[in-house]
Amino acid sequence: MKRLKRLFIAIVFLLIFQGCTSYHGSTSEEPELVETVTTPYEYNDELGAGSELEIASEVDESESTPVDSLVDVDDEEEDDETEATNIRIQFAGDIFLHDGPMNVARTGERTYDFKPFFTHIQPFIDGDLAIANMEVPVDAHGGNEQLSSFPLFNSPFEILEGLQYAGFNHLISANNHSFDRGFQGLINTVNSFERAGINHTGMNTNWDDFNTPTMLDVGGIQVGIVAFTDSVNGEEGQVPEESLGYAVRRFRSHTLDDIPRMKQEMEILRDAGAELVIVALHWGAEYGDAPVEMQQLIARQLVDAGADIIMGKHSHTVHPVEWHYREDGTRGFIMYSLGNFLADQTRLTGASVHSQINEGWQHHQFIGRTQFGMLVSLEITRNLSGEIIIDTADILPTLCMRDFSGNTLGVVDGVAIMPLVSGEVPDFITEEDIRLWGRVAYEHVANIAGSGEILNTSAD
Ligand SMILES: [Zn+2]
Repeated sequence: MKRLKRLFIAIVFLLIFQGCTSYHGSTSEEPELVETVTTPYEYNDELGAGSELEIASEVDESESTPVDSLVDVDDEEEDDETEATNIRIQFAGDIFLHDGPMNVARTGERTYDFKPFFTHIQPFIDGDLAIANMEVPVDAHGGNEQLSSFPLFNSPFEILEGLQYAGFNHLISANNHSFDRGFQGLINTVNSFERAGINHTGMNTNWDDFNTPTMLDVGGIQVGIVAFTDSVNGEEGQVPEESLGYAVRRFRSHTLDDIPRMKQEMEILRDAGAELVIVALHWGAEYGDAPVEMQQLIARQLVDAGADIIMGKHSHTVHPVEWHYREDGTRGFIMYSLGNFLADQTRLTGASVHSQINEGWQHHQFIGRTQFGMLVSLEITRNLSGEIIIDTADILPTLCMRDFSGNTLGVVDGVAIMPLVSGEVPDFITEEDIRLWGRVAYEHVANIAGSGEILNTSAD
């Protein structure tokens, strides 16, 4: 059978940046930055013309990172001061559930199972810290009584179990949908995170929560996280006035005026012991392929002010990533928008993708860029001098497929988040589908994430 045939469809899209740049403090020697970009296996035109997919056995492993290296990571936790400490932190974009995926996951009147969505991506989510953006509220554990989707979302509790199965152990919860179900919805969401035993940053049920910085011991490295959103979709009225100050951290993404305040928040994390600071920003316009200039200014100024990693999101489409170098030669990593990880916005942007592809459009015409995402993996080291360094950034393009055979929202057989590297194809996806969509998604993500400054930053 064509289906279930083991496929090697695409690629690890690998951005290796080998450097000796110190992070917090200057070094006496000039950092020598060697940057390579490798593409172990590329689609060729034949793949789109109905030929059998080929196994990518010709991968030149001398120049590429073997796929297995994304899967098998040593979990050595060595606090020995004579050895460097290495951790992996991973980032994925928006998780939100429209009717289609909820219907697929339904197992009973008010029970759900989302784990099958993640079967194919799960082997790749192995970071010591793996963070996704939980875009929407989650219903109270054991309840699922007030579920809803667009435009005011409330997702089943079981999505958290699915995300944990996938390998995520931290969620960002400050988003434009944070107030979709009012302040009680926010409280329910936080309670559900706690019931599931999954950490989160963003929503706060009181001032104590707000004032307690997110500090994580990740394999011996202290990681601080702070999350901001530039919008709550105008739903402030759903939250008591006295709670608005702490419910989620706000900022404005059309001005630089909030940077001093955001810098203070980063300093609070440093004071709490953070060696690595992650700033999550929910921001910008939806559905574009790039940030606006103000977003670039904000992200770069935050890095200049001490942020190590900017985790941007909200556009539901993939944006470029970049290293930003501070004056002292150290650098931070900016992800302007990770795109969707689990979503069903296919009708929204299908037309724009339609124009990009002139063949293969039949019953799957509604798939779009909002189904493409990326799983970003950062390898981070504390060296023997105690400096924290982001050694490498790898991008794995992903594709959230769903069955469209019914061509009606709610009439679907399956949803799967596919790593565009290898794996078995789910029953509801044909080889034709994956040949077409795998290629389109891969090329799109590669073009976007690789088209920015990241490829042009040469060694000085
Ligand atoms: Zn959003």
